[in-house]
Amino acid sequence: MAITVIGGGLAGVEAAYQIAKRKKEVVLYEMRPQKLTPAHKTGLLAEIVCSNSFKSRDLFDAHGLLKEEMRILDSLILRIAEETQIPGGKALVVDRWRFAERVTEEISKNPYVTIVREEVRKIPSGTVIIATGPLTSDDLAEEIASLTGRKNLYFYDAISPIVDGKSIDMEKAFFGSRYSMENADYLNCPLTEEEYEIFYEELLKAKKVEFREFEKIPYFEGCLPIEVLAERGKKTLLFGPLKPVGLKDPKTNKTPYAVVQLRREDREGSMYNMVGFQTKMTYVEQERVFRLIPALRNARFLRYGSVHRNTFINSPHLLKGTLQLKKDERIFFAGQITGVEGYMESCATGIIAGISAFFFEEGKEFIPPPRTTSVGALIAYITEEKAHFQPMNVNFGLIEGYTKKKKESLVKRALSEIAKWKELTDSLTKLENR
Ligand SMILES: Cc1cc2nc3c(=O)[nH]c(=O)nc-3n(C[C@H](O)[C@H](O)[C@H](O)COP(=O)(O)OP(=O)(O)OC[C@H]3O[C@@H](n4cnc5c(N)ncnc54)[C@H](O)[C@@H]3O)c2cc1C
Repeated sequence: MAITVIGGGLAGVEAAYQIAKRKKEVVLYEMRPQKLTPAHKTGLLAEIVCSNSFKSRDLFDAHGLLKEEMRILDSLILRIAEETQIPGGKALVVDRWRFAERVTEEISKNPYVTIVREEVRKIPSGTVIIATGPLTSDDLAEEIASLTGRKNLYFYDAISPIVDGKSIDMEKAFFGSRYSMENADYLNCPLTEEEYEIFYEELLKAKKVEFREFEKIPYFEGCLPIEVLAERGKKTLLFGPLKPVGLKDPKTNKTPYAVVQLRREDREGSMYNMVGFQTKMTYVEQERVFRLIPALRNARFLRYGSVHRNTFINSPHLLKGTLQLKKDERIFFAGQITGVEGYMESCATGIIAGISAFFFEEGKEFIPPPRTTSVGALIAYITEEKAHFQPMNVNFGLIEGYTKKKKESLVKRALSEIAKWKELTDSLTKLENR
């Protein structure tokens, strides 16, 4: 029986391509052009809705490593992006319309793929991959909510920045949670009154990104952008995300004037989340303003803060490492709806979901790539149980062994392991060379 893929965006196209190259029929549903999302403008498959950059090509940047791994996995999107690229320095930048036209052309002529231009409102029977992205249509979102439980489907993300643990000035920070200074889950970054005043003034002045019309949302009190809280008054933050109560700086044995709390994102302490720092500041301004916090003066940001419209599921709770729904294994998810963030990250999950669904149809066990690769690390991030799930870009902090190894050896190991994984996976399905 054919595998159904819902969504002809980046992830859906990658999934369909991986299935088709294994000589299995795919039916790919795309609702455009009959029904557009609030951000898409055409009926072209893989239309990119905002920036035309697929980010860095540098192998020693996590985005570059991800691309190299995707090349090894035979990514169709990457191949066409390179074919339609325009000058962009270290970044892979594409001619957006040429790119989407070429993807549409390539998938349309594939003899194993049938494209149906129709909105899917109910999840069909058989093996299905849902790759309907951050702007999944309302009826299907409703269907997903009733399948997964309403509380496991989100419509906006309010993301706090993540800082590379290695870049925090530990001389200026101290561990401990409120009233329990032994707890090492929180790392506290104190500010004096003078440091706070400067930080506060710069936060107010910083350039913010405007919401698009369809993104205008009534904020929830619990996840207001930090600058919106700041606008309510100079002291508001001191009763919110910069609250110092219950914390004592061991160096002074006193409660600081203000404290930014960082929460450990992983066991190794390679990544720390700035608690309550969701923001609409531009990336450049986030670096400038957040580096005014003394312990973060040299901070490297693995992920920037944001607040935007985004439909995504609570994958760590709902999905297996194979991207299958735990409660109904014939249903797979791929792309931004799984809680990865970004074009290439969405494609990577599309590749894995496509291969995984193919294995499922063949009745074979599928083992996802190891956490030592960037693709495997991303999949592990979205599928391993965690208390505070927020969408994530690819970054080195996700890769196993980041705190102990140098980047060069991490990259070398990742490329060798993804190649081994591909060879093994292909041999299990006797994949013929293209
Ligand atoms: C406004 C906006 C700006 C963004 N800017 C960037 C950026 O600059 N850089 C970046 O890396 N990421 C950006 N993103 C995130 C970006 O959307 C994803 O990185 C990427 O496009 C996700 O790929 P996807 O395949 O999961 O979803 P999409 O590319 O959105 O594809 C999903 C497809 O599913 C179709 N669909 C939806 N519902 C149905 C249905 N019921 N039946 C049939 N088809 C359906 C849609 O029409 C769409 O074609 C942005 C997102 C938004 C919303």
